[in-house]
Amino acid sequence: MRKVALVFVLAVIVPALVLASLALRSLRDQQFVLERQQALLYQGTADALAKEVDAYIAERQREFGLQVETLLASSTPADLAASFDNQLRHTWSMAEVGFAVSLPGSCVLAPSVYSRPEAKDFRLQNDRFLCNQEVVEVYWQNSLVPNALQKPTNSDSNAQVAQQIVIANNQEPKLDLAKDQNIKGKRAVTPQQQAYVAPQQLQQTEPSDNSKVASAPAEFRQLVGDSNEGRIARFLQDRLSLLLWYRSPRDPQLVFGAQLDLDSLKQALRALVKLDPTLQHEICAALIDDRAQPVAISNPGFHSNWKRPFVATEIGEALPHWETAIYLLDPGRLQRSAQTARFTLGLLVAVLVAAIGIGSWLIVTDLRRQLAVARQKTDFVSNVSHELKTPLTSIRMFSELLAEGRVTEPGRQRQFLQIITAETARLGRLINNVLDFARMDRGEKKYTIASCNLTEVVREVVETYRPHLENNGFQVKLDVPSQDVMVKADCDALSQVIVNLLSNAEKYSGDKKEVSVHLENGECARVHVLDRGLGVPHGCEQRIFQQFYRAHDSLGSGIQGSGLGLTLARQIARAHGGDVTYESRDGGGSCFTLTIPCQNNRSA
Ligand code: ADP
Repeated sequence: MRKVALVFVLAVIVPALVLASLALRSLRDQQFVLERQQALLYQGTADALAKEVDAYIAERQREFGLQVETLLASSTPADLAASFDNQLRHTWSMAEVGFAVSLPGSCVLAPSVYSRPEAKDFRLQNDRFLCNQEVVEVYWQNSLVPNALQKPTNSDSNAQVAQQIVIANNQEPKLDLAKDQNIKGKRAVTPQQQAYVAPQQLQQTEPSDNSKVASAPAEFRQLVGDSNEGRIARFLQDRLSLLLWYRSPRDPQLVFGAQLDLDSLKQALRALVKLDPTLQHEICAALIDDRAQPVAISNPGFHSNWKRPFVATEIGEALPHWETAIYLLDPGRLQRSAQTARFTLGLLVAVLVAAIGIGSWLIVTDLRRQLAVARQKTDFVSNVSHELKTPLTSIRMFSELLAEGRVTEPGRQRQFLQIITAETARLGRLINNVLDFARMDRGEKKYTIASCNLTEVVREVVETYRPHLENNGFQVKLDVPSQDVMVKADCDALSQVIVNLLSNAEKYSGDKKEVSVHLENGECARVHVLDRGLGVPHGCEQRIFQQFYRAHDSLGSGIQGSGLGLTLARQIARAHGGDVTYESRDGGGSCFTLTIPCQNNRSA
């Protein structure tokens, strides 16, 4: 039994638990992969939006070059330079200020300081830079970047870049970093997810908020270099200033430039921030400025902590520290679905483990029952052998005595013959019981049902049995009603039941040798077989009806038996729609009752 339990634990429980834990782990991995895929999808959306914004700025840059060429077509470069601010603003709404710089003299030709307040502010803020008298922190994007001004990698320090400028110029530019109001190295937002990071890294590190867009100190002439056009972004008094510049082949010594009107730019960019309809119910896309404020959002009315998008992409040097960011409309949704999946799997595992547990318990119980039946069968064989041997020995002994003529007295001879008859009957009963049990076990027992007078059956069985009982010192009482009690039954089968009950009353009588049989008529016919014997031990009242079960075993009580008599009696009674039950009697002894539905009542 222990071996079976061990095999069961090793073969079923342990693999089941291992599988359950693997399932839970794979669920966690699946969830992680799902999150990554979602992050990648949304990151792709943010990237595409950032590209569109960058392309829009590049388009404006080309547009600016065309504007300059158009204006140059109708006037000389020198004339245009003088009135560039007015002329440009007149033809191109994106310009806030138009400026012109003469490279040889390093002087600003336009706008005029006296023309309007915006022009005056522009000159105040940019003159020193445009006249190459000041090195400032800028974010630039030239079509051709001179080697000396190769953009610094993240590892480059500002000091190294400043040194490069000094070497390239062979002069000493004034490095006025104190005036660089915004030396920004940090991103305006901190995305919750980093879609391009390997999962292992992501688990170990917090999302980085270091910007990939870096500023570097530079002077205007170095930025222009040999290029024809370019963009320069810088922060002035914490406000982004975006300059586009262009050199015409007609006069490469003149640089025409425009400071973009940020409000017009924002207005134009708003049209770009829109989402694929399939994503509109899941996320909100936003263009976030350097102060982490939304410039444009795809879902009007949506509010969030703008500094904590799900994923975000920096636009680049064109709009430094501006980002396209994606926010989840329902941030708890992923977590909730993960929780539901975890709960479902947990429940499934629990149900499986419970099913395995209950299954094992049922198997073990059945195994125990089978073992008990096997043990009972062994006992049965030895009991039956013994029961066969005892009457056979008596029969043999008394028949030998009679055959040898050693008993001559007629009274004694009759007595011996009675014993032989009784023992033969006992043998017959036993063999009948065993055969009937085998038939019932195989489901082959057949009953010949007919109208049966139970009064007659009971009287006949008791009267047949009476001499044997009285010879053995029993007091036999029979109490049957005067009228017939009719039942529909197999008469022989009912006789067998009453014989078994009478035989038990005799066997388990002990010292008080009293047997009473009482037939009661009513809704059902009841045959009570009563004795004043040993009685059924407490707790065994139901088990005595189980096959092979013996409450008084042969060794302890010295009473022989097969443990089949009551099993058969009950099976026969139940096959007739009745039962055999046990009750203890006041004053000691047993009362076994055979109940059979009456014929009249049945048909009614
Ligand atoms: P057995 O061949 O052992 O008598 P039965 O199926 O007829 O088998 O009875 C089952 C058990 O019920 C007996 O072993 C005995 O312990 C108990 N039993 C049956 N009849 C009586 C009775 N009249 N008085 C006390 N115990 C009884």
